[in-house]
Parts: sequence; structure tokens; C-alpha cells
Amino acid sequence: MTDLPVLNDKLIEQWLDTQVADKGHELFEQGRVNDLDYDKKSGALTASVRGEDRVPLQVAITFDTDDYLSGHCTCPMGADCKHVAATLYAWMEEQDDEDD
Ligand SMILES: [Zn+2]
Repeated sequence: MTDLPVLNDKLIEQWLDTQVADKGHELFEQGRVNDLDYDKKSGALTASVRGEDRVPLQVAITFDTDDYLSGHCTCPMGADCKHVAATLYAWMEEQDDEDD
């Protein structure tokens, strides 16, 4: 079990394609990321992201070490897509809001 690494823009662009990161940031700014949750037991960061379809996409991200991420999504791309990026940006903001 590991704690989530502290995220920043650079890391997200390193993990994912810069273009993918950009699109994900747009989705995040449009408020499409919901139900953001981090399960300490499984070490998985999950969220549902509203895409083009009515059915929200389910995103699950796990971090094996500080510099490796594995992102899965129910969209056709399946992994490391803009929805994964959007979830990371949402989590980044969540971290900023935390005082402790
Ligand atoms: Zn996706």
C-alpha cells in the first residue's frame, strides 16, 4: 500500500501525452469529473467522468511507485486517455484543498 504521489502538471504530462493531458484538463475545467475517491486499501484512485455519452466513464488509476501510473478507463481507448488525465487534475486540486 502506498500513498498517492503528490501530483503536478509536469508529472501528468510525463505520464500521459501532452495532448491527452491538455484535453483532460479541459474536461476537468468543465466540471466533468465526479465521485472522485481514493481507496487507501487498494491504492486506487477512481472517478466517473462525463464524456460524450450519457453513461459516465469509469476511471481507475493505480500508482505502483512515485513515477509510474496505470490508468484504466471504460472508454474505447481503455487506458491512459483524456479521462484519466481529467481525473488526475481533479485529484491534484483536491490535494491543494487539503490542509493536513
Ligand atoms: Zn477514457
